[in-house]
Amino acid sequence: MPGMNASRPSVSTAFLDRLEAQTQATMAAAEPPSTPFAGAPKADRSHLTATVEEAAGELHRIVRTLHADPEVAFEETRSAALLAEVITNLTGAAVQTGAHGVPTALRAEVATAGFDPQRHRTVAVLSEYDALPEIGHACGHNVIAATGVGAFVALARLISSGSSQVEGKVVFLGTPAEEGHSGKEVMAAEGAWEGLDAAVMTHPYGYDVVDVLFIGRRLLRVTFTGQPAHASAQPFQGRNALDAASLAYQAIGLLRQQMPPSDRVHAVITDGGTRPSIITDSSTMQLYVRSAYPETLLDLSARVERIMHGAAMMTDTSVEVEWDHYPPSLPVRGNLTLGAHWARSLAERGREVLPAGVVPDVLAASTDFGNVSVRVPGIHPMIAVGTPDQALHTREFADAAGGPRGEAAAVDGAIGLAHSAWDFLADDELATAVAQEFADAGGPLDPATYFA
Ligand SMILES: [Zn+2]
Ligand SMILES: [Zn+2]
Repeated sequence: MPGMNASRPSVSTAFLDRLEAQTQATMAAAEPPSTPFAGAPKADRSHLTATVEEAAGELHRIVRTLHADPEVAFEETRSAALLAEVITNLTGAAVQTGAHGVPTALRAEVATAGFDPQRHRTVAVLSEYDALPEIGHACGHNVIAATGVGAFVALARLISSGSSQVEGKVVFLGTPAEEGHSGKEVMAAEGAWEGLDAAVMTHPYGYDVVDVLFIGRRLLRVTFTGQPAHASAQPFQGRNALDAASLAYQAIGLLRQQMPPSDRVHAVITDGGTRPSIITDSSTMQLYVRSAYPETLLDLSARVERIMHGAAMMTDTSVEVEWDHYPPSLPVRGNLTLGAHWARSLAERGREVLPAGVVPDVLAASTDFGNVSVRVPGIHPMIAVGTPDQALHTREFADAAGGPRGEAAAVDGAIGLAHSAWDFLADDELATAVAQEFADAGGPLDPATYFA
C-alpha cells in the first residue's frame, strides 16, 4: 500500500486502447475456424448436448459454490470433493481423489465395452479449480471446473447408454494448482499424461477464441554471497551481495532491449540485507523467465544465467543459481485441427469463435497446460465470460465468473469439450490429422528433461 503522502501514478491506457481497436478490426475481418472432418454422428452430438443441458443445474452449482468458497493451489479439498460428488451422482463412475501424487487431484474413467488400447483412442477432459489469494476466482477456474465435469458426465452417460457405435475411453482429470504452480507437471511424474491420445480443456476469457498465445515460464532463484563488513569503518573488507543483485537487476533491464518481443523476464530482490551499516553478505532474487517457444525459452534461460554469473564476477561475490523450484511450463501448443471442432460446437450455441491470431500475442501469460500440450495433442480454447475490457486476475473478472455469464459458459463449454472429445474418438481421419499437426509441431517433448 502506498504511504500516507504517496499516491499511485496515473497510467495511460493509450497502448491498450490501440490494441483493443486493432483486435476489433482483426475480429471484424476474421473467418471463424472451420473443419473438413465430419466428427461424431449427429445423434451422438445431440445426446451429449441434451445431457449437459439436463445437468445444467449441477454445473451452475459448481460455478457458484466454488466462487463463494475459493481455495488456493494444493488446498482445493472442498472443491475437489464437490466435483467428485457431482460426477459420481450423475454417472455412477468412481472418482479417485489424490490421483497422480497430488492430494486434491481427481481421476475417473469410462470406456466402451470393447475398448482395446491398441485399436481405440483415449481422450482426457480436464478441470482446474484453484483460486487466487485474496481475489478468489478471478481467473474463472470455477467455470473450468464445471466445464470439465459437464463434458465428462455427458461422455460417460453416452457410453453407458449403449446408443453409440463409437468406441474409446474418456478420462476425467481434476488438475489442482495452476496459479503460480504447475500442478499438471507434478501429476506428470505419476503418469497422468500416459496412455492418452488427446487432452481437452477450456479457459474463461473476454472473448470466444479458439487459441491464444500462452508462453512458457521458468522460475529462477538466485543467491549472491559476499563478505560482511562494517559499512563505515571497514567497507573495503566487505564484498557486497546487494550490489551483485542490483547489477543483475539492471542488466536484466538492458537485456530486454535485445530479447524477442514476446519474451519476458521479471525480477524481484527478496533479500537485500539487514542494516545500512552492514555490507550485505547475502542477497536473493526471484525471477520468472518466459518465452513463446521451447527453444527460445532455453536460449533466454542461458542468457539470464550468464548475467547472474557476470554480476557475481563484477562484485567479487559468488552466486548460486537454482532453476525451477516449481516445474517449468512450456508454451501451449494448441491443436487447431481439433480446435476447429470446438469452434463448430460453440457456433451451435450461438457463440462465434474467433480464429487463432486475433488476440495480440503481446498479451500472453503462461499455464501448466503447456506441458500437457507438448506431450499429447491438446486444445485450450478460451470462452467468453467477461467482456473484452475485463482482464483475467481482476475483481471485475471474478464477478463475471461467479455470475450468469460464468454459468452460461460452463454449459456451452461443457458441450464444446464433450463434442470435441467424442469427434476425436469417432472420426479416424480427424484423429490422424490431429496427430499429424502435433508431429509437424515437433512431436512429443518431455518438459521434465527438456531443460536438464
Ligand atoms: Zn490465472
Ligand atoms: Zn487461469
